[in-house]
Amino acid sequence: MSDNDQPGEARQHVALPLKYRPMTFDDVVGQEHVVRTLKHAIESGRIANAYLFVGPRGIGKTTTSRIFAKALNCLHPNGAEPCGRCENCVQIAEGRALDVMELDGASHNKVEDVRPIIEAVQFKPAASKYKIFIVDECHMLSTAAWNALLKTLEEPPPYVKFIFATTEGDKVLATIISRCQRFDLRRIQTNQIVDRLKYICGKEGISADEDALLAIARGAEGGMRDALSSLDQLIAFKGGTITEEDALSVFGLVSRSELEGLAGAILKGDAAAILKAVATFDSAGKNMRRLAGELMVHFRNLVVWQALGQKAGNTLEITADQRRTLEDQSKLCDSSRIFRIADKLAEMEDKLRYVLSVRTLIEMTLLRAGRIATVATIEELMKAVRTLKANGGEVQVSAAGRGDSANRPQPPPDNAPHPPPPPAEPEPAFDRQAILNDPKLNGILSKIPGAKVIDIRHA
Ligand SMILES: [Zn+2]
Repeated sequence: MSDNDQPGEARQHVALPLKYRPMTFDDVVGQEHVVRTLKHAIESGRIANAYLFVGPRGIGKTTTSRIFAKALNCLHPNGAEPCGRCENCVQIAEGRALDVMELDGASHNKVEDVRPIIEAVQFKPAASKYKIFIVDECHMLSTAAWNALLKTLEEPPPYVKFIFATTEGDKVLATIISRCQRFDLRRIQTNQIVDRLKYICGKEGISADEDALLAIARGAEGGMRDALSSLDQLIAFKGGTITEEDALSVFGLVSRSELEGLAGAILKGDAAAILKAVATFDSAGKNMRRLAGELMVHFRNLVVWQALGQKAGNTLEITADQRRTLEDQSKLCDSSRIFRIADKLAEMEDKLRYVLSVRTLIEMTLLRAGRIATVATIEELMKAVRTLKANGGEVQVSAAGRGDSANRPQPPPDNAPHPPPPPAEPEPAFDRQAILNDPKLNGILSKIPGAKVIDIRHA
């Protein structure tokens, strides 16, 4: 980053994830359910012995652990929030607090590594209320290491608190989980990441439009740390102005408008446009699996939009531009079709793991999706016929644009006077002799005494 980009900024570059790491609970983005509970625990003084934070990487597990540790040991807390300025807060932030010990379970997973914890537990905190142990990637600890810790976990002294964090909650032993209060941290919503990026760009004097930030957020897949690292990289690479194109090239993503354009082609059943778009993305080296996944999310959003309308804005992770597209596209097709398209795309995502030709599978699926969007189903034909019966009129199957049934003779409406019967085809004449001559029929007739052949058609 050049000095021109950031007048007055210190020369030494501080990485954005570090510079904008949340310092209080209220700064933590996207984990409101966890933050609320932790704040309440502090306010009510009901602190559990051990906490377990589970969730994918880069979404704030370590950050939340440190804020929680600060809040527990802060000398001048502001309600449940740490002050961030007292000696304890500063030392915890800098990783040099005597009473807060951090252990990286990935690299320190043996019994010897947890022994210092077990020893430290016996001594009261030196300068704070609690002695806090934060164990990151705790699923990596060996069974022996856990067993060594277990006794301490069962009955820790009242001044000891444990905070475990892991990306893989399933790998943590049940005996451990049962001794912890477990919190599942979520992937952060795309629009929440966009908002945070917007805020940071404002602070850093970076110009980037919403689609550029959306591309970064999409690339980060719910991880705030990754999003900030990418923004950092892009600033280093492009300086003070970041375009959507820059961000897309980093991740191999298709632009929002291209993705929505492809969705539009599917909704209109425009096979030529579908094939052209797929070919363009493929030859531009776009990540086709991501494309498939994002297309599915788009159709899922359309389903939700059709169900909830404007209220969907709160449920969906979308920006204002995406909202406008959903509104327009939701009018192109009824919800049952969009449901079926979303189903098809979900099937495709499953298959993508096994196929060799990703492009072929995507093409075939999208063409089929285009047909789903536009070709009438039997149910729709039946419905059209029923409507016709009720109203009397032409059968119209709008979506298909093909009125196969329109030219067929239609049954009259139930309450209408019966029209004269259609001109009947001339009936074949009754030919007794021909019947008697039929070897099969004659064989039967000969076994029935007194059997006669008579014409009952007009009886
Ligand atoms: Zn403090």
